[in-house]
Amino acid sequence: MPLPSPPPQVSGIKQDELRRHNLSLLLRYVHLEGPTQRATLTAQIGLNRSTIGALAADLAAAGLIREETPGVRSGAGRPSLVVVPEIERYQALAFDLRVDRIDAARVGLGGILLARETVPLPDGHRGFDEVIGLLRGTARLLTESLPEDTRLVGVGVAIPAVVRDADGFVRFAPNLGWEERPFGDTLALELERALPRRPFERESVLVANDADLGALAEHTRGVARGHEDVVYLSGNVGLGAGVICGGRPLRGHGGYAGEVGHMIVNPTGQRCRCGARGCWETEVGIDAIVRAAGRTPGDGTTVRSLVSDALAGDELARSALYEVSRWLAVGVGNLVNIFNPELVIFGGDLRELLPMVHRDVVSRMGAGGLTVSREHVELVPSALGVDSPLFGAAELAFARLLDDPLGVAMSLPSAAD
Ligand SMILES: [Zn+2]
Repeated sequence: MPLPSPPPQVSGIKQDELRRHNLSLLLRYVHLEGPTQRATLTAQIGLNRSTIGALAADLAAAGLIREETPGVRSGAGRPSLVVVPEIERYQALAFDLRVDRIDAARVGLGGILLARETVPLPDGHRGFDEVIGLLRGTARLLTESLPEDTRLVGVGVAIPAVVRDADGFVRFAPNLGWEERPFGDTLALELERALPRRPFERESVLVANDADLGALAEHTRGVARGHEDVVYLSGNVGLGAGVICGGRPLRGHGGYAGEVGHMIVNPTGQRCRCGARGCWETEVGIDAIVRAAGRTPGDGTTVRSLVSDALAGDELARSALYEVSRWLAVGVGNLVNIFNPELVIFGGDLRELLPMVHRDVVSRMGAGGLTVSREHVELVPSALGVDSPLFGAAELAFARLLDDPLGVAMSLPSAAD
């Protein structure tokens, strides 16, 4: 007796979901890996040749990819076509809002940097309205020469703040002096006004914590590719962490996990901008390092200049870095005990510090009681330099398109429409 066939409606939904899932796999693959032969996609994604061919045709029809004949043939038979992401056709805007400047970029599908701008934020110019105005102006600058058929898939913003992922509402940004500000909603509204020929959907403007986005970028494109358990440290004026556990970002109940800069390491230490005393960032943030070297925060001293002064024999600089490495070891040791990561990535200004303090931090960490979680951990600099949060912001902006390539591509207006 033949089995009853499932109701056609259910089967149709499942087919659609399966197709969307497979389109997502294919587009994500070439977004992260670059141009790839169909034969490689068949092997890597685990779908047969005709399915890959059909999916590629769908993505090509939406202008997301194109297929090219490879320049060099490998072996006999018909050459396997190369699937190439349409870098210019689909682009995102990425912002890394830092305490002293805004880094901004236009990034093409495939994660390719196409244009960038930097806007300084001097003391006294970090007010909410002023920063929103600078972001709006920079967005206009980055998009004014775009061809008509280019589609903006979204805007991603990295911010040194405790931020609600769902709508980009900033709960607390001590180093910007902001508290409870509707950052995501305000920015979306301002961008809508600033770019009338490129209408924005509210959900395409996404905001997240800078360290979380640094971790995302290093995990997808940087030094943490292929690693499942990673702590990314973002060290500038403030200090934060993005944590990847079992291959997934650690979010916490409200999405606010990873505020390691406010982990108390020295209860008798300095008062922090958050109100507590002895937070980790009061001991290892840039201001702390500069003060320990006998200089004044804001006098132009950078971590890089301190490291080079220390290497040139400046005793104050050397002892400041020694002191910092002591507190770095305390904090990193705690994080390693809690998360048992394979990698601790030093991002932001901490990247400059790592070569100088690496050996010291490792030996101090090893001097503690619990050694099992420290057995395999490596301390490494971020592969994307200080741009990890910027590239993470671009990934955030591309996420919706990568999840549902055709659905989102069809919904995006172009300036030509
Ligand atoms: Zn604090």
